Formats: sequence, C-alpha cells, structure tokens
Amino acid sequence: MPNMQPEKTAVREQDPKVRAHNFDEVSSCYTDEEALNEANRCLNCKNKPCVGGCPVGVRIPEFIEKIREGDIPAAYDIIKTTNGLPAVCGRVCPQESQCESKCVRGIKTEPVGIGRLERYCADYMADKAPAPEKPEFNGHRVAIVGSGPSGLSCASDLAKLGYGVTVFEAFHTAGGVLMYGIPEFRLPKATVQREVDGLKALGVEIRTDMVIGKILSVDELFEQGYEAVFIGTGAGLPNFMGIEGESLVGVFSANEYLTRTNLMKAYLDDYDTPISRNRAIAVVGGGNVAMDAARSALRLGADKVYIVYRRSAEEMPARREEVHHAVQEGIDFRYLTNPVEILGDENGRVRAIRCQKMELTEPDQSGRRGVKPIAGSEFEIDVDAVIMAIGTSPNPLIRSTTPGLETNRRGCFVVDENMLTSREGVYAGGDAVTGAATVILAMGAGKSAAAAIDEYIRNKK
Ligand SMILES: Cc1cc2nc3c(=O)[nH]c(=O)nc-3n(C[C@H](O)[C@H](O)[C@H](O)COP(=O)(O)OP(=O)(O)OC[C@H]3O[C@@H](n4cnc5c(N)ncnc54)[C@H](O)[C@@H]3O)c2cc1C
Repeated sequence: MPNMQPEKTAVREQDPKVRAHNFDEVSSCYTDEEALNEANRCLNCKNKPCVGGCPVGVRIPEFIEKIREGDIPAAYDIIKTTNGLPAVCGRVCPQESQCESKCVRGIKTEPVGIGRLERYCADYMADKAPAPEKPEFNGHRVAIVGSGPSGLSCASDLAKLGYGVTVFEAFHTAGGVLMYGIPEFRLPKATVQREVDGLKALGVEIRTDMVIGKILSVDELFEQGYEAVFIGTGAGLPNFMGIEGESLVGVFSANEYLTRTNLMKAYLDDYDTPISRNRAIAVVGGGNVAMDAARSALRLGADKVYIVYRRSAEEMPARREEVHHAVQEGIDFRYLTNPVEILGDENGRVRAIRCQKMELTEPDQSGRRGVKPIAGSEFEIDVDAVIMAIGTSPNPLIRSTTPGLETNRRGCFVVDENMLTSREGVYAGGDAVTGAATVILAMGAGKSAAAAIDEYIRNKK
C-alpha cells in the first residue's frame, strides 16, 4: 500500500535566522528513513506522466521503486542513464513546473518529492560510485567551448565514446553558472567539482583561462586538429534597464555580484577579492538570479534587502522553493514596482532608487499579463546598492570572431535539430542557443550535440 501522507516528507533546513548569515547549504539531504517514506508516496502509475515532464526523460518511477527496495546504487544507475548531473538537478531543477507538475499525487495533495529523492540518490552515492574508467582513444578530437552544464554533458558523452575531448573555459574554474552563479548555500561547489573531476577521470582535458575568440579562434581550434567544436558559452552578458543612474558606484549586475561572491569567494575573509558591504540593497528582477543575488546580499551583511519586481507574485519566474526561502530569511518583496531612476549622492554613490507602482493588465495572446504604470505613484526606497537581475544575453565574442556563424536578433546561435550551426563541424547548445534557460535543458542540448557530433565524425571518415 502506498503511503497516502498528503504532504511531501519534510527536509531538515537550517533555521532562517541562522542561515541568513552563513553560506552553508540551506536544506539537508533526506535520511534513509525519510527517503523511504517519500518513495512510498509514489503510486508507480502505469502511464508515468512524471517522465514526460522531465526534459531528459529520467525513468522516475523505476528509480523510486529501487529506493523502495533499498537498492540505492541501482536507483542511481537508472537516473544516470539519462541525467549526468543528478546531484545538481536534484537541487536546482524547477521540479514544480516539470516532473512534479505531472505527478498524479499532485492533483489532490502535494506531488512526490522527486527532486529530493534524486538528490538523495546522488548524495548517497557521492563517495561510493566507482571512478569512471578511461575509454580507449578512438583517434578523433573534439573541442568544447565553455564548461557549464551543456559543455560538461557534451564532453562526458563524447569521452565515453572514446573521443579525445578538450574543454576550453574562459574562467579559472570549470563549471559555468553552477560554479559562478548559483550560490554555495543552494549548490555546494564541492558537488560541482566532483562532476568536473569525474570528467577528468574519463580523460577529458580541461583548459581554464582560455577565452575562445581572444586567445584562440574557433577556426584555430580546427587548425589544431579538432574535428568538431561544440559551443556552450551560455548567456553571461547582463542586461540593464537603461534608466538614469545605472553607472553610479554601488550598481552591480547580478552576474558580477554573484561571480565575485561565489567564484572569487568574496564572502571569505582570507581571500583578496572582497566585495563592498552594503547597508540596504534593492535587487531588481523576479527570477532565480534575483533570489540568489538577494539572499547572497543578506549573507554578506546587508541589514535590509528588497526584491523590486514589476509584476505580481504569481508571475514571478523563480523556483517556488527559492521564493519561500527568501521570504523566510526576511527579504522584503516589493511587487508591482518598477524602478525609474537610481539616485546618487554628491560622491557619485547610490543613495536611493526611485520606483513607480504598476498595475496588471489583461493577459496577452501568450496568456501572460502585462503591466502598466500608475500615474503619480512614484516613491523612493532608501538603498546604498542596486543589483540588476533582469536577464542576460549571449556574449558576442565568438560570433564576432567566427565568420559564417549565424545568430538570431537576440544574439543566440542558430542551430538545426541536430544542434548544428551554420558552420560545418560547429555545434552549439544551452543558453548560447536558447537564451537564459535551465540546467537540465542545457544538459539535454549537450547530450544531443554529442550524439550528432559522433555521427558527423563517423560519417566523415
Ligand atoms: C544565478 C543563477 C541562478 C540560476 N538558477 C537556476 C536554477 O535554480 N535552476 C536551473 O535549472 N537553472 C538555473 N539557472 C540557469 C542555468 O544555470 C543555466 O541555464 C545553465 O547554467 C546554462 O548552461 P550552459 O552550459 O548553457 O552555460 P553556462 O552555465 O553559462 O556556462 C557557460 C560557460 O562558458 C564559458 N565561456 C563563455 N564564453 C567563453 C569563451 N569565449 N571561451 C571560453 N569559455 C567561455 C563561461 O565562462 C561559462 O563557464 C541559473 C542561472 C543563474 C545565472
């Protein structure tokens, strides 16, 4: 008989008052007992709608069944056949709009905690899974540009097929947004590093501090003997609003703020790369990036942190759990509020942000409600820093240094159904193709590209 408990088995979390001042992970992993209790909530439905909700088709009821049987290595193996990064996805996937949104238990009660169970399997196996064996070299070399989830997945699949794979990464550390964007308290960097180390064990060479388009061009990669190139360079170029005051001291892009915090360890006193400590900060935006920036700002010592979002709570794209955690930690949400100007003091530093109140309009053709300003509703919020988290675009470096590489009007690489760009042998995927999206979609793209690259090189022979 399934466990008919209506709520998900709770995870233990750090007290919000305590965790708002440290970078340790917020949520704990299920214990064996908790995982079994949650696994028993799964109805093991015949038509498995949850699998259809997962962008990479993880065989969810099958792995949950293995948890029930107490065979966690088998559960982990099932997940790994389609998802190379379960420890990451279990923590950061937007399950509420993917697998869990299709869970039959979710119709009347809370869905099965699929993400929590995925994380449980990955964490359980973290120090138990055998190191992968290096396959025999098949004589062909492929270059991967960018070491985010798309590049890592592409590299992993190709290395398993025997390709000599080199990953070129612009930063000094591999992992992409998993390392420099998503904070430690949500995704411990040791977890990401384990995945990168696994790739190295497969024989993948990772060359950091290599900005392709500056140090080497895509064409030079071919000249060096790589037979195909995968571009997984993400969408790391921050957007700004174009309002007065954005060049004042104390205005950051979320990318800069989070990169300094996560990758350059600005939160640790013994690093030489600090970030200014601010009293009151307004973070503009309503996605995961905005939540991460706001919660990091709190942990870096701000007394007051606001989320300024121009729509209402219902439209906010951030993962529900992140919003819930941010509210618990004391972030002040100002919905239906849009900045119109950032105000500076006599030293050119931020002193306040001027906003106007907004109201929702009727839904457009896509079903999303628009907003319009309420006349005469302007007011100021007293802050000494502003973080812009209103979206990002792909960096133009590679497209501007690679002749014949087609991009669309948003600067994203144009690819066909095989992830092939307009240049022979050049494939692309992840945020560089879709614009800012999700980890699992980037991974899926990397996997598809690996299969297409393998086919291309085998047919070329
Ligand atoms: C703060 C933040 C929070 C997020 N939270 C979530 C979440 O909770 N859940 C979720 O699913 N998604 C989340 N996302 C989105 C998700 O992280 C991205 O969709 C995903 O990382 C995209 O993967 P990618 O491989 O395409 O690119 P990235 O992860 O962006 O990796 C691209 C890599 O390419 C490198 N690069 C760029 N240009 C060059 C060059 N010229 N030469 C060499 N290397 C280069 C970059 O340095 C980077 O390491 C978040 C994003 C951010 C920024």
